[in-house]
Amino acid sequence: MSVKEPLLDSTYSIRVTGLVQGVGFRPFIYKLIVAHGLKGSVENRNDGVFILLNCSNEKVQEFIADIRPKAPPASNIDNITFEKVEFIPFDGVEIVKSASVSDTITDVSSDIAVCDDCLKDMKTQPNRIDYPFINCTNCGPRFTIIKDLPYDREKTTMKEFEMCPDCRKEYTDILDRRFHAQPVACAHCGPEYTLISGRETIYGSRNILPVLAQLLKNKKIVAIKGLGGFFLACDPFCEETVARLRKLKNRESKPFAVMFRNMETLQEYAFVDEDEEKSLLSLKRPIVLLKQKKELAPSVTVGFNTIGVMLPYMPLHHLLFEHMEIPAIVLTSGNISDEPIIIDNEIALEKLPYIADAFLTYNRDIHNRADDSVVTVVNHKERLFRRSRGYVPTPINLQKNVDGILATGAELVNCFCLGKDKQAIMSQHMGDLKNFETYAFYTETIEKFKRLYRFNPKLIVSDLHPDYLSTQYAAQSGIPHVKVQHHHAHIVSCMTEHHLDEDVIGISLDGTGLGDDGHIWGSEFMICNTKNYQRISHFAYMPLPGGDKVTKEPWRMAVSYLYSVYGNSFRSFDLPFLKNIPTASIELLCQAIDKKINCPLSSGAGRLFDAVAALINLCTLSSFHAEAPMRLEAILNPSDKHFYPFEIRENDISFQLTFQQIVNDIKAGLPVADISARFHNTIIKVVVQMANDIRSKSNLNKVVLSGGTFQNKYLLGNIENELHSQGFSVYSHEKVPTNDAGIALGQLIIAASQHIG
Ligand code: ZN
Ligand code: ZN
Ligand code: FE
Repeated sequence: MSVKEPLLDSTYSIRVTGLVQGVGFRPFIYKLIVAHGLKGSVENRNDGVFILLNCSNEKVQEFIADIRPKAPPASNIDNITFEKVEFIPFDGVEIVKSASVSDTITDVSSDIAVCDDCLKDMKTQPNRIDYPFINCTNCGPRFTIIKDLPYDREKTTMKEFEMCPDCRKEYTDILDRRFHAQPVACAHCGPEYTLISGRETIYGSRNILPVLAQLLKNKKIVAIKGLGGFFLACDPFCEETVARLRKLKNRESKPFAVMFRNMETLQEYAFVDEDEEKSLLSLKRPIVLLKQKKELAPSVTVGFNTIGVMLPYMPLHHLLFEHMEIPAIVLTSGNISDEPIIIDNEIALEKLPYIADAFLTYNRDIHNRADDSVVTVVNHKERLFRRSRGYVPTPINLQKNVDGILATGAELVNCFCLGKDKQAIMSQHMGDLKNFETYAFYTETIEKFKRLYRFNPKLIVSDLHPDYLSTQYAAQSGIPHVKVQHHHAHIVSCMTEHHLDEDVIGISLDGTGLGDDGHIWGSEFMICNTKNYQRISHFAYMPLPGGDKVTKEPWRMAVSYLYSVYGNSFRSFDLPFLKNIPTASIELLCQAIDKKINCPLSSGAGRLFDAVAALINLCTLSSFHAEAPMRLEAILNPSDKHFYPFEIRENDISFQLTFQQIVNDIKAGLPVADISARFHNTIIKVVVQMANDIRSKSNLNKVVLSGGTFQNKYLLGNIENELHSQGFSVYSHEKVPTNDAGIALGQLIIAASQHIG
């Protein structure tokens, strides 16, 4: 009596890859199967989400067509494939327990800001009233708590917390928003905060919040454990406190980030356009660099006209603002100068008492450190300065197989990158490897990534510079090791973001990077592809008197340029900056240049910016990386459209005429804001003219821009627009930073092109 049911006579398997774990994908699929009136199963595997359906070919196609448009907000689907398999009958819809099946890993989700539904629940659900670890499948911690795949509670630092019956009910109820939300928790069973203030220890957020608000109001500095590490918080309106924090943190003049209560208050203090608003409100909640509207305490931004701002992203931030009159807090990384952000409660209590008056910690471990990410918007596109919380470890999809390659990155601003099939997985922001703790964080994170991604490097690629600790790491690894030129890696990194694999005009304006002629490069005009490069031109080489010292003492660079233009006669010039430098120092420096003592040659664009910033007496000593160029950009008068003369020679570009004119302008009393604008406009002219020259000789029309100097918004924005208007196709960074944190991606691809093909 077998009556054949046409809709249920066959079984199809569907595989969905991409960011589909830890984002409520299985419940979504479960509900979708029910909604389509079908039967089957859904399973998390470490290579994606695997679905079996009893249905016809027509039905499976309808089902698949429904996946992308209805997928959960935090998911990101790469690929959906399906095939007919042997018939397996299902009685209903089941969720199969997670299984490890292969070494192919699908995406690990990044951390997501608390969602609006959870904020509502925080005011209505009895077991979660003001409970600051509330989360659901659409929000909450991910990368920072994950130890292994597949993504399940016991593979995270939530393992220690046993779900209470209420939470378990939600976790197992298919119609609930917390169905299979791995970090699910409530006041009865989840993590909790502890506030340590002097001899007093307070438990539970309800008791803590009023005290915490009071501490901040009373000019205290509080260390607050965030998602990916500890942060230092204080009142951004109190100059005394902010100045104290600055002094204790040993951070002279690098601006602090500020978190505002909401968008409305934020807009009182900063100008926000539509694109910037989108970044501020995105699930990733980065720090966004904006133009300042109204000043906070002067020590927050220390003379810059921009401010790094963000909106609350943890439930605790929302709760804190409910208890506080102050509409904003300084929220800066909890670390000692160059060390990585602290993640351990014990280490915070050991290292931060010199800075913090009180500690707000919680009893769930942070497994993966992730500092706040920093972005800006140029020409309507988000640009990353620091890629970390919220962005990491989202992979970059490639058209090339890079499996088994580890790229060790640069040194000063390091990220590493590993290759898995056709995906590049960039690490979170590491920092300066020369710092002992940062280097330990680097090697430890490589090990964590190897485990998490079942990754076993077969080829290791590093920078050309033999002294970089990342190069030495590669050399000591015992794995076949290739070296890649720094600026070639910059350009290929940007090419990779845009899937370019052909000859292009590459323009890298940068600080430093070792060239293949043994000199220090950093203003490279090249024709390159993902395998090779040909250097066409560069800014004229200049001696760096004192070597690495020049980055901390930009005045040295100004003297180097003046000496090359005027010889000794510049010393009698009436230039304000010269009056700040002892005559003997200038004398010694000129002698060192003559005798070529510790005066490596550099074509670095960053050094040219340093020289001009010092020459106009804006920044003769620099207290943090790239301070001089940043200050030069900050003061420029955008309505001054003039530019200075320069000379494009056969193999390089000379700025002798530029310097003569700047000196004349200083003597004539032209405002520094105008000099800065004219200098910036000069660089824009040079880049555009060089692009035209190379195009006319090579017939190439695609220009790829990369390197740290393109963090300069004025420069990047205007160069892009000018090149566009002259018919070029222009490519710049959007997914990884244009600074050295993006280099590993380029290294990875060059190694793959040269050695895998
Ligand atoms: Zn939520
Ligand atoms: Zn619970
Ligand atoms: Fe660089």
